[in-house]
Amino acid sequence: MNQLKFKGKWALVTGSTRGIGKEIALELARQGCSVIINDSGRSKDDAESMMKEIQQLKAEGVYLTADVSNFQSCMALAEQIRQKCGKLDIVINNAGITKDRTLKKMTEQEWNEVIHVNLDSMFNVTHNILDLIPDNGRIINISSVVAFSGNFGQSNYAATKAGIIGFTKSLAKELGKRKITVNAVAPGFIRTPMTDNVPVEMLDGILNLIPLKELGMPEDVAHAAAFLASPEAKYITGAVLRIDGGLGF
Ligand code: NAP
Repeated sequence: MNQLKFKGKWALVTGSTRGIGKEIALELARQGCSVIINDSGRSKDDAESMMKEIQQLKAEGVYLTADVSNFQSCMALAEQIRQKCGKLDIVINNAGITKDRTLKKMTEQEWNEVIHVNLDSMFNVTHNILDLIPDNGRIINISSVVAFSGNFGQSNYAATKAGIIGFTKSLAKELGKRKITVNAVAPGFIRTPMTDNVPVEMLDGILNLIPLKELGMPEDVAHAAAFLASPEAKYITGAVLRIDGGLGF
């Protein structure tokens, strides 16, 4: 396998200072990609340690903060990318949050925050960087298996993840003539800081439902995303790839 298949390419991975986004950015960097690391700027430590890991891989990395829930912030991000990189070959729309509560108890703020970060971000980021993406570019959006199954206490989150699939399929139709592929990945339960908060009893219940009897790791999602970003995936667009150990098939 060509270890440096992304040499000369630039990738933006939103929300890439920890969890799944971090692992996707590291995997692309390992394969020669120059990466733009992003988060909202809340955790300086996470960003610093991520940039050190990129340096250790001897890859090129740029850290740009932007709040993906905010259109103006994403406009500024696109302008910085234009100046520093000149183009953007791969976009991974990964940043996301949860604010779990049953609908009855959910506040308007909890609903809105999740919609803004997880779904509005698809428009805010992609609209602003679209003219930086050359022909044969790649867009990969991170959805979730709850887009298909729903989940107790996650009406806000599941709505955004289902919305991401409709967004992905529509954009795949719009950008096909430029050979830009647009796909989604739908992870199941993956070990990250996001799932660290799930109570142990609930995790045991989830493990029972997973045919492979283990939680996924961020690198499981990273390998799939790197494949969809690769030249070998040139005839795959509008697809949703589940990475869930068989959960709910
Ligand atoms: P995580 O560990 O909480 O990491 C989320 C990343 O997004 C962090 O870098 C965070 O940094 C950043 N972020 C949050 N809000 C942001 C904002 N407004 N603007 C820019 N960056 C922001 O989450 P994860 O588990 O890796 O999840 C990553 C993606 O996978 C999400 O879309 C999630 O819904 C999806 N997913 C996860 C699982 C799972 O089991 N973990 C399953 C299915 C889907 P700051 O907070 O410092 O900004």
